Amino acid sequence: MTKTAQITEIKNDTSVEANSVLGQMFKYNHEQVLFCNDKDTGLKAIIAIHNTVLGPALGGTRMWNYASEADALKDALRLSRGMSYKAAAAGLNLGGGKAVIIGDASKIKSEALLRRFGKFVNSLGGKYITAEDVAITTKDIEYISMETKHVTGLSTLLGGSGDPSPVTAYGVYISMQAAAFEKWGNKDLKGKKVAVQGIGNVGEHLVKYLAEAGAKVWVADINEERLNRVAKTYGAEIVDGNKLYDLDMDIYAPCALGATVNDETIGRLKCTIICGSANNQLEEETIHGVNVMKKGILYAPDFVVNAGGLINVYNEFSGYNRERAMKQAEGIYDNVYKIFQISKEQNIPTYVAANQLAETRINQIGKVKLSFK
Ligand code: NAD
Repeated sequence: MTKTAQITEIKNDTSVEANSVLGQMFKYNHEQVLFCNDKDTGLKAIIAIHNTVLGPALGGTRMWNYASEADALKDALRLSRGMSYKAAAAGLNLGGGKAVIIGDASKIKSEALLRRFGKFVNSLGGKYITAEDVAITTKDIEYISMETKHVTGLSTLLGGSGDPSPVTAYGVYISMQAAAFEKWGNKDLKGKKVAVQGIGNVGEHLVKYLAEAGAKVWVADINEERLNRVAKTYGAEIVDGNKLYDLDMDIYAPCALGATVNDETIGRLKCTIICGSANNQLEEETIHGVNVMKKGILYAPDFVVNAGGLINVYNEFSGYNRERAMKQAEGIYDNVYKIFQISKEQNIPTYVAANQLAETRINQIGKVKLSFK
């Protein structure tokens, strides 16, 4: 269903109000939302399950001092929907979910709070599987796992998949190759000029791949120590974060923050391709997804490009093996390339083509699941 159709539908449905909890769930068809409260530990959390047609809803738990409960709910609903699309487009048998714990992690996070949260996760009987996200560390996941087995992303010492960043970076790298093939008829990145914004866990691995491929790499980060170390190790050139958008580059790789593709930056960007790991790179999908297309920039949709992390934890279900996770992440190349073809054939922005790919898979597999008992 198109966005316009959904909005019209909600206006016509007198049983829900657009801004009520159920109204918001109705808008994007969320299955279930669980509100969790525990006076003793100070736990206030929301677990949002968007869609479980393909499999259990997987998505991390984020802890944040939200300005209001409404903001927390909005974040949980938006992020859980994003996870459904990411899993579906990556061809995984997973649904989309996300949890948010409301509060300042530095003040109220405790073993008891996390274990109480684990009890709530467990009460969903495996319909929701949690993992790390903002302000939730591997150690926190360990506490949660004391009360539920429905967790992923445990450290390798505890039999988990550990840091997903190398797999995510690999997915970004091969997505760049797919974009290069689409634009220049050759996936070789030798001599291509790439600016990597944010050289954290993912960014650094990406710089390594690019350096090995013989690309000319610029790096920008707010952490000077990291910047100097990474630049020296891989022979990259440091660039001032404010000047990055004006570089004469072939590929812009956002690997730090979301919303960096916006009214201000699109005018400045001279690149041919945008491809990076950051979530929600387009400030406003419907505006900036269209504007980059008009400018002739090929945008590789973030949730398809950065699915390596999810593919990595998915592999925990069948006994984790890094080599197999990397192999599976290779499928990202075909996915990204397919999206470019759909975008070209239908003359639609790549983000729309990516959404279509995800929605089509959910609908088709949903029908298959209903076809026989
Ligand atoms: P990270 O925290 O390790 O690295 C982020 C880096 O960005 C840090 O070095 C930080 O100093 C830098 N940074 C922050 N603000 C900046 C700014 N204004 N300009 C330049 N640099 C800035 O995070 P990560 O795990 O490398 O993830 C990077 C991005 O990719 C995030 O948006 C994350 O949500 C997304 N992502 C990561 C994974 C994964 O597997 N780690 C998976 C999917 C998506």
